[in-house]
Amino acid sequence: MPPGIPVHGKPASAPRREETVLGDSSVIEAAAGTAQSGGGKTQEVLPVASCALPTAWGTFTSHVFFDAAGLEHVLLTMGAVGDGKPVLARIHSECLTGDALSSLRCDCGAQLRSALARIGEEARGVLLYLRQEGRGIGLCNKIRAYHLQDCGADTVDANLRLGFDADARDYAMCGPMLHHVRVQRLRLMTNNPAKLAAMRELGLEVVERVAMPAVRNPYNETYLDTKARRMGHLLE
Ligand SMILES: [Zn+2]
Repeated sequence: MPPGIPVHGKPASAPRREETVLGDSSVIEAAAGTAQSGGGKTQEVLPVASCALPTAWGTFTSHVFFDAAGLEHVLLTMGAVGDGKPVLARIHSECLTGDALSSLRCDCGAQLRSALARIGEEARGVLLYLRQEGRGIGLCNKIRAYHLQDCGADTVDANLRLGFDADARDYAMCGPMLHHVRVQRLRLMTNNPAKLAAMRELGLEVVERVAMPAVRNPYNETYLDTKARRMGHLLE
């Protein structure tokens, strides 16, 4: 890794967990300790605040959590998700360029909106929005990787040349976040076999994989083909 480049671009002012609203580390430990039902490790999270969040696809309930590093993760729920029946679910990692700026270099924004629309159609489901930008390497490093791709590298080799794994994401916070809203059984919207395996390792039951549409354009063709060829994504 280049010197001075943090893995995550955490702001210096990110609140330490001891300084959070609830301010009681025993709450964090209690939240973390409740979801360890599988073989995978879980990461402690602290539920901090919830509110109604009306969107173009219907009104969700938004729950915000701090993890141990001070990152803020979001869980959106719609409908009665805690009734024990399988829940339509999307585990989405932050992509500022795709989600917010409508970049065509990837398909993240299209996948996010497709997942929210699908949940809205069923009026029931959950979406986890995880703050691990750029498959876990942070925004600055993602832009560095994009530059390497402009010079000919593919998305995997660009990450490797910067000293990172091809996919540095960690899903350990998902178990406690879903446990908070009593969700255990998932109909998981994903094309990524590694994400299916990660949820199962956390002790969650994936009863169905719901395929996501691959939204192709002239700028993301190589990216999507690389994800299919080198990362095993199931693109249809
Ligand atoms: Zn993206």
